[in-house]
Amino acid sequence: MKFIETKTILSKVKYGSSWYGVDYNMNLYKGCPHRCIYCDSRSNCYHIDNFDLVRGKENALYILEKELTKKREKGVIGIGAMSDTYNPNELKYEQTRKALKLISKYGFGISIDTKSDLILRDIDLLKEINSKNNVIIKFTITTPNDKLSKIIEPNVCASSKRLQAIKKLSDSGIFTGIMMNPVLPFITDKEEDIKELVKLASKFGAKFIHTYMGMTLRENQRDYYFHKLDQHFIGLKEKYIQYYKGRYNCVTPNYKKLYKIFTDECKKYGILYNMDDIIKAYKGERKGNEQMKLF
Ligand code: SF4
Repeated sequence: MKFIETKTILSKVKYGSSWYGVDYNMNLYKGCPHRCIYCDSRSNCYHIDNFDLVRGKENALYILEKELTKKREKGVIGIGAMSDTYNPNELKYEQTRKALKLISKYGFGISIDTKSDLILRDIDLLKEINSKNNVIIKFTITTPNDKLSKIIEPNVCASSKRLQAIKKLSDSGIFTGIMMNPVLPFITDKEEDIKELVKLASKFGAKFIHTYMGMTLRENQRDYYFHKLDQHFIGLKEKYIQYYKGRYNCVTPNYKKLYKIFTDECKKYGILYNMDDIIKAYKGERKGNEQMKLF
């Protein structure tokens, strides 16, 4: 893996903490090797050359410690917005593990987006952070079907392994759930698959599922996606072109009906799906645990 220098590591989120209660964003790696066919992070607007090539940020931990000591608000740090921090290089370099140690040392919270069960290696640190501040883990799962997940997310573990990881994290007291996002029109938008995924979420102890019934497509993200459609889903590219006509927001044709089915299933299994409720639950759960300990 190549290394690059960085000047800053934590960026305050501009839109407030409305997105999963995250206060700061952090990426320890540049680029991502998972090659999800729909990946938005490869879009031109983010200016990441050779997106599939992972580069480590050499001085990230030094800069992180400096920044953590200066922050007044011990908020939640989000990892994984632009790159899955649990890529194969993490096994050797442990950048994420070392960053979690610093986050624990300085008492900040953590929100991690991943598709990799490598996160299980760090359960000890997640538990440690959870005893001091807020922790939320979001596994992206777009389909209950392993064969399909290996086509659309080829370089990371299949959906069933991610569900098993959710179970282990949940059993360890870590607030963990699912990002069912994106929902790929004409591919992962089948009613029965959405019902099945909610059912599996319940079975494996997920506390929440958040979704957007569609996907976004822009610039070279679209080119890559269409190229992959031609490889794996013959004739679908033409269907997208005809239906969406180059639009950025590509919601599934039956999104209202699907969302109703989705929310009905979540209610049936007692799984949270509304963002405000998810934030309240994971931040409140820790406070509740603290109060219990006091009593
Ligand atoms: S894991 Fe996320 S950042 Fe990495 S390729 Fe997939 S969608 Fe892109």
